[in-house]
Order: sequence, then structure tokens, then C-alpha cells
Amino acid sequence: MHSEIIAVGSELLSFGRIDTNSVYISSRLAELGISVRYKQVVGDRIEDISQAISLAMSRSQIVFITGGLGPTNDDITREGVAAALSRVMKEDDQVIRDMEILYRKWNRSMSENNRRQAMVPEGALVIPNLNGTAPGLFLQEDEKLVFVLPGPPRELNPMVEDQVLPLIKKFKSVAERPSRILKIASVAESALDARIEGIYKGYPDVDTTILSSPGVISLYFTWRLDSLDQAETCLDDLTGRIKAELGLSVLTDREEEMAAALGRLLKEKGLTLALAESCTGGLICKMLTDVPGSSEYFLGGVVSYSNATKEKVLGVSPGDLKEHGAVSASVAEQMALGARQYLDADIGLSVTGIAGPGGGTEEKPVGTVFIGLSATETCLSWKVQALGGRDIVRQRSANQALDRLRIWLLTGK
Ligand code: AMP
Ligand code: MG
Repeated sequence: MHSEIIAVGSELLSFGRIDTNSVYISSRLAELGISVRYKQVVGDRIEDISQAISLAMSRSQIVFITGGLGPTNDDITREGVAAALSRVMKEDDQVIRDMEILYRKWNRSMSENNRRQAMVPEGALVIPNLNGTAPGLFLQEDEKLVFVLPGPPRELNPMVEDQVLPLIKKFKSVAERPSRILKIASVAESALDARIEGIYKGYPDVDTTILSSPGVISLYFTWRLDSLDQAETCLDDLTGRIKAELGLSVLTDREEEMAAALGRLLKEKGLTLALAESCTGGLICKMLTDVPGSSEYFLGGVVSYSNATKEKVLGVSPGDLKEHGAVSASVAEQMALGARQYLDADIGLSVTGIAGPGGGTEEKPVGTVFIGLSATETCLSWKVQALGGRDIVRQRSANQALDRLRIWLLTGK
């Protein structure tokens, strides 16, 4: 089953706005085994929209059109749909009533141009919008399904989830494809693939996708057959073998970030954490506090970007700063100890490094990072070499630091 997505909006072609709706829709479709064969992005012109729809209808069984459903004059997707499918448009009384209720609730009066949002091509089913005023539309033409959806992601996403996917399941014989995820930390993508390709290539009924981000690689395994008979056992078998091969490098088998996996470990062990960050500038604290409930184990952090702050707040020795430099094992260790003592935590974790683009030397090139860890009777540090630009170096260092702590919690090393 093939589908196609058309993103409507001139801002997506010229004003630096990015079409994320199609990314969201395609990821949800993949779970149903529906592939997206084409995407089109088209500006706010009726002829262009209508041509894009006609082309999509000629080659895809399911067509999604997003954006251009608002009340203003440049919102002309409805007209483009009506033209492509040769349908007349009529004002829909129910849509008008729904909008009036919404405006009364907001204590605002509905302006005349809002009536445009109630224009519905003949034969279309109106999909109520619970998060905005522009309703979606569902049309059938021969065996093909057409969905017309609002542009704002906060309106589109729940509409897809709650109303569009159930309609697709009702009209096409598709079912949720069983899948698994494994997240792998601190292994390079090529090295990882070399270690596991011999395993996943032995499972031709499973699609394996490897997605890399700085410091963490996600492995997705999706059942590809319509028959789901062997799916669960086969996926368990495959992921079991990959877990055995990769051991401690497997960070999680859930759809969660590094900080969430680490947080569960800290909670289990009843330990609290304090951070001292230099080159990551607070990024690790952000990652930790992105996890709801992290206050149970995360006490806080110090962004000790200058040497003076490293000395004053964390008690790093001025002599060591001078002798070894701010980017050194001994400074990383003293930062971790300082944060732990200052914030009264069980564990202190620190990062100090050269994020670039300037500041590198022959001895310590850009990307040289030291991670420090302090706990009762523990003082450890690691040197890592992170590749990439400033942003990537910071993300890699942050993930590596959290991963060092994770491994230490699991092995004591
Ligand atoms: P519209 O439905 O054309 O009135 O768009 C309303 C808003 O939705 C735009 O200002 C964008 O912020 C957002 N939007 C529209 N199309 C997309 C898209 N394809 N991806 C992400 N956001 C979008
Ligand atoms: Mg628009």
C-alpha cells in the first residue's frame, strides 16, 4: 500500500519554515506497514495545489494534504481539493455551529472570514478538530482515500492519531506492525553495524533501520509481512541475540532518551546526582530535567564555564588549573567532587572540554573532553575525543558523560 503527502504553504518554500507534518505522518504510517512513496511541497496557489493532488491521485492509494485550511485568503487548500476532484463546495451547517460554540467558549466573536472554514467539497466527511477551528476532511474517490488536515502540528497530530488512523484501518486491510527498538550508547555507527549485520541479515522478514544521533544510535526492527503469525517470537529472538552481542552498550529497549534510562537506574539505587558542566553549558542539566519526575534523583548543577567559577564555586585548585589546564583529568575530577559536596549529592558528574571551533592545540585538539565522576570512595575520569562541530561535540560529550555514569552504576567501573 503506497501513500503520498502534500504539504501546502508558501512559507514552506520561502520563509524557512520546515514541513514537519509529513515526517510525523510517515512515522505513524510506517507502524501500519504503509509506505510513503512521494512527498510534495506546494505554495498557496489553487492551480498548483490542484495539480499536485491530481498527480498524487494518479499514483498513490492514500493521499494526505496538510495546511491551508485556515480562515484567511491564502488558505485555499479546500478550493484546490474541490478543483482536483471536480466537486462543488457547500457550507456545512454543523461546522458553523461547532465554530460558534468554540468562539462562545473563548468569549470572542466569530469573524465573517471564519465561515470559509465551513466550506466542504461534496461527499466529504468532516473530521472534527478538537484543538482548533479548521476541521479536517476525508474523501473517497474510487478506491482511494484522501485526507485533508490542518497545518499546525498541535492540531494535526491528535487528529491523525485519534481519527485518521482508525479511518485508514476501517477502509484498508492494514494492522499495526509489531516492532522493537534498541538504543545503543557510545558505539560508532559503522562499528555497530559490523557487529550486528551478521545477526539481522538472518531475519529477512524484519526491516532493520539504524538511525544515528550524537552519542546514541537507535535500532528499529519492524515486522514486514502481512501475516503476523511468527512476528513476536521472531522479533524477540532477533533482539535477544543483538542484546547478547552488545551487552552493556544496550542503553534501553524502550522509546526513551538516555537521561530517562539513567534516571530509572538512579531511582532504583536511591542515589542522587549533581552536575558540574563547562563546555556543555547546562545541556546535561537540561537533558536530565526534560524527564518528568527527575527531581527525585537530580539535585542540580553548576555551569562553571570560567576558571574563576571552577575555583570559587567548585573549589578547583588554581595550581592544577594553571599546571594541567581547565581541560584535564584532574580538573574534571575536582569539578565532580566540588559539585557533589556543594549540592550534598551521592554522585557528582562533570564535563570539561574544547567544543571549538577555536581553542584547540596539538596536544588537546577540538573535541578533547574529560568526564569526571565523584562518589564516596570513588574518583574517576575519562578522556574522550568527540568528532564534529561545536554543537555535535557538546551533544556527544553530554551523552558520553551520562553513559559513563550509567556504566559505572552497573559495573562499578
Ligand atoms: P495553515 O494551515 O496553512 O494556516 O498553517 C498554519 C500553521 O501551521 C503555519 O503557520 C505553520 O506554523 C504550521 N504548518 C503548516 N504546514 C505545516 C507543515 N507541513 N509542517 C509543520 N507545520 C506546518
Ligand atoms: Mg498556510
